[in-house]
Amino acid sequence: MMEKASKAPGRVKEIDSPSNPIIKELKGLEKKRVRTETNSFFVEGHKLVLDALDGGWTVRTLIVAKNAAGENRVIELISRCVAQGVDVLLVSNKALTSLTRRDNPQMVCAVVSQKLGSKADVLDTTGTWVALDRVRDPGNLGTIIRTADALGASGIILVGDTTDPYATETVRATMGSIFANPIVAIDEPAFLDLASQFNGRIVGTHLEGSVDFRVPDYSTHPTILLMGNEQAGLTDDLVGACDHLVRIPQAGTADSLNLAVATAICLFKAREHGLAAVGEDLS
Ligand code: SAM
Repeated sequence: MMEKASKAPGRVKEIDSPSNPIIKELKGLEKKRVRTETNSFFVEGHKLVLDALDGGWTVRTLIVAKNAAGENRVIELISRCVAQGVDVLLVSNKALTSLTRRDNPQMVCAVVSQKLGSKADVLDTTGTWVALDRVRDPGNLGTIIRTADALGASGIILVGDTTDPYATETVRATMGSIFANPIVAIDEPAFLDLASQFNGRIVGTHLEGSVDFRVPDYSTHPTILLMGNEQAGLTDDLVGACDHLVRIPQAGTADSLNLAVATAICLFKAREHGLAAVGEDLS
């Protein structure tokens, strides 16, 4: 899983046994510790691998089921990877099932290098960032990354101790959007410092917010839309950093909305002007 230094063509290797050491090593990417140590993560599906390549991400290893290796689109992908110096593993169904722990695994997978964004990306922005305070649920995070991509947000800020954006479950839920926007991971003091330098508005979402989420004018300033933890909401210090504290009106008996749903509702409002600008105003 070491990153290749040269552009020599990638090698193609066949693996049949699920207990092959390379399969065992790849399985280690299930663990956050291994993903962090190797600075890499596991991606499943032909579309996601193409998204990674097209987005300029470093693909380290391509893994293809032997019985799919004759399909035209797979042959094309293998040639593209080999030409870029990426090693290709042609694996048996048994090995692939063992590697992915799925009965019906995707026929194409890859190991890709992690790539996080920086605070400078946020400070340079003219758009909308979504900041998530200690998000815990991988499905929520993946859905928010996908939604942020679809609604034209500029990126995601992970604040504090969050679930790993490169966990396989999260990457699956992003449906390829993991490769679309920068993700910046910082602790709460670093976020508060960033907020103090940010040339725009911090809009926090809170069940006790005094402002309807539709009221702020999101079109005039860059925005950080700040969302709270699934159980505890926003910390007091994060609340203190907000220019507005907004609430989505609710009916019925639910205490609150699911985090990903609340993010989608607020982000759509915050990005409405931007979506109209790209010709997506369907009113
Ligand atoms: N028990 C938590 C609390 O008291 O804040 C509930 C957290 S809620 C499941 C997770 C996050 O979703 C909230 O911190 C907020 O960012 C957002 N959220 C959910 N429903 C909301 C609403 N009606 N208005 C504003 N934000 C909401």
